[in-house]
Amino acid sequence: MAFELPALPYAYDALEPHIDARTMEIHHSKHHNGYTTNLNNAIGGTELDGQPILNLLADMDMNNGALRNNGGGYFNHSLFWEVMSPDGGGEPTGELAEAINAAYGSFEAFKEAFSKAAATRFGSGWAWLCAHEGGKVEVCSSANQDNPLMPGIGCGGAPILGLDVWEHAYYLNYQNKRPDYINAFFSVINWEKVSENFAAVK
Ligand code: MN
Repeated sequence: MAFELPALPYAYDALEPHIDARTMEIHHSKHHNGYTTNLNNAIGGTELDGQPILNLLADMDMNNGALRNNGGGYFNHSLFWEVMSPDGGGEPTGELAEAINAAYGSFEAFKEAFSKAAATRFGSGWAWLCAHEGGKVEVCSSANQDNPLMPGIGCGGAPILGLDVWEHAYYLNYQNKRPDYINAFFSVINWEKVSENFAAVK
C-alpha cells in the first residue's frame, strides 16, 4: 500500500496574488511528488510498509534520514495545502480563537509570534501552530522536513497549521523577502480547516 500524492484542493492559480501559480505547480507536482515517491521507496519492502503516516512520524527513527526527510515532507505538505484556501484569511473564531487568545492575548500577538518563528527559522524548515491535548496551543518551528509529531522536535504538540519556509515555497515571487511571503500567507489561511484540526486534537 503506497502513499499517493494528494490532489490540491484548488487550482494552481487559486491563491494568487499571494502565492503564484508557477510556485504552486512546481511545489506540488515536483517537490511534494518527490517526497511521496521517496517515502514509498524508503518503506517499500520493510516492516514499515503499510503503516499509517502518523505512526511512522511518532515512531520515527531519527537516524533514518530517508524516512525522516520524506515522511516529514509527505505529511507536512499534505497539511500545508489543506490549511490554505482562496477564500481564506481573516481571523479564527470560536474555541480556536479562545485558545489563541488564552496563549497569546490577542490574534495580533499570535500573528507576531508565528511570523517571528517563520522568519527566524534559519535555512529551510517550517513554522507551526500546534495543539496539545486539553486545548493549549503553541507556536514553534522545526528544521528541514521535521515536524512536532516526531520524537524530540519542536513543541511536541500536534501541528494544526503549518507554513513552509523553504526557499522553494516563495523564491520565484518573493526572492529573499521571506517576511513578505509570511505576511501574504495570512491572507490565505483556511481558519475553518485549522479549527477542524484543533477540534480533532484537543
Ligand atoms: Mn515545500
